Amino acid sequence: MKNTDYIIQQTDKYSANNYDPLPVVISEAEGSWVTDVDGNKYLDMLSSYSALNHGHRHPKIIKALKEQADRLTLTSRAFHNDQMGNFLEELCTLSGFDQGLPMNTGTEAVETALKAARRWGYEVKGVPKGKAEIIAAENNFAGRTIGVLSMSTGDLATDGFGPYAPGFKTVPFGDAEAIEEAINENTVAVILEPIQGEGGVVVPPDGYLKKVREITEKNNVLLMLDEIQTGLGRTGKLFCYEHDGIKPDVVTVGKALGGGMYPVSAMIATKEVMDVFVPGNHGSTFGGNPLGARVAYESLKVLMEEGLIDRAVELGEYFFKELREMNSSKIKDIRGKGLMVGVEIKEEVGTGRDFSEKLMKLGVLVKDTKAQTLRFAPPLNISKEDLDWGIERIKKVFTE
Ligand SMILES: *Cc1c(COP(=O)(O)O)cnc(C)c1O
Repeated sequence: MKNTDYIIQQTDKYSANNYDPLPVVISEAEGSWVTDVDGNKYLDMLSSYSALNHGHRHPKIIKALKEQADRLTLTSRAFHNDQMGNFLEELCTLSGFDQGLPMNTGTEAVETALKAARRWGYEVKGVPKGKAEIIAAENNFAGRTIGVLSMSTGDLATDGFGPYAPGFKTVPFGDAEAIEEAINENTVAVILEPIQGEGGVVVPPDGYLKKVREITEKNNVLLMLDEIQTGLGRTGKLFCYEHDGIKPDVVTVGKALGGGMYPVSAMIATKEVMDVFVPGNHGSTFGGNPLGARVAYESLKVLMEEGLIDRAVELGEYFFKELREMNSSKIKDIRGKGLMVGVEIKEEVGTGRDFSEKLMKLGVLVKDTKAQTLRFAPPLNISKEDLDWGIERIKKVFTE
């Protein structure tokens, strides 16, 4: 049997070097637990950045995947399939939006939203052709394509990949006035993450989204929220913006929509926005495929039927309380919502990477995001006992 060292060397030799994973090689998983090739078990407290809200290999979603794989997997959108409508009906009914446009990865859903906003600007708002502007927040993360990178602020993800697409402005995250100042007659949309995930679990000040909603409404500008990481129960609501009692015009969903097993994403929107799409002006070979649609439908069903959103509220409150009561002198800040938890470590005691390696040795898998912050995002259906098992080890690392 091939062991950890062999596989890591093989991977280093044949894979592009665009990631720096922890030195663990996972070969099996169930629920909140994964097993490596040497038989060691770990508690997964990262959940693939919230793509595993349902845990690993949820039995109902696996069943749906297998059944669908045995019937029909791909038609392309040249023909109808009998699964896509069901999936989109469920997504629209739950979210209260009129229509959805299915894609595969989160990045593609964001690209779709950016394209929709530009066309909406020209066709509905009356912005002169080629002049549309979109406002994004500094420190955002929305994917890796040239289009999406063009609204990112300079760092490793953007360095050396220019020239970027024009038509984007960035303003500080959490500052509604800055958005108002950046808006002009050609502004078509503001796009934000309700909580910046990759940016280090950055929670904006209370009332931020509400103010941004007022400003965008007043100026006839679309509000587009990227809920790819924060959505589907992660923060204790179906969508994080519900905490603020607002409704955006466009939402992007992905990650957990695929039940942790198949890439499915979507842009959902009002009909007014979605109407900018006509046959031939956007699409994807695999977008809306029956296998993904069936998996996504089942993922939404499981999320609601198994009360996973309430679990994020209950366990989130408990987890935050336990973390705060540790009173660790190594921690600079604890922030987040629901089961999306960022722990910022003081620079003098080490990096996020150091601490994720320490936790790994004790059987807990997490990862740093932005050098000093650990992001904890366990599956929403993690048991209280398992969470306690993880907390015990986190305590050890932060209070020893
Ligand atoms: C992960 C993520 C994306 C990109 O999704 P991919 O499936 O990796 O393309 C976009 N936006 C946010 C907020 C994300 O967390």
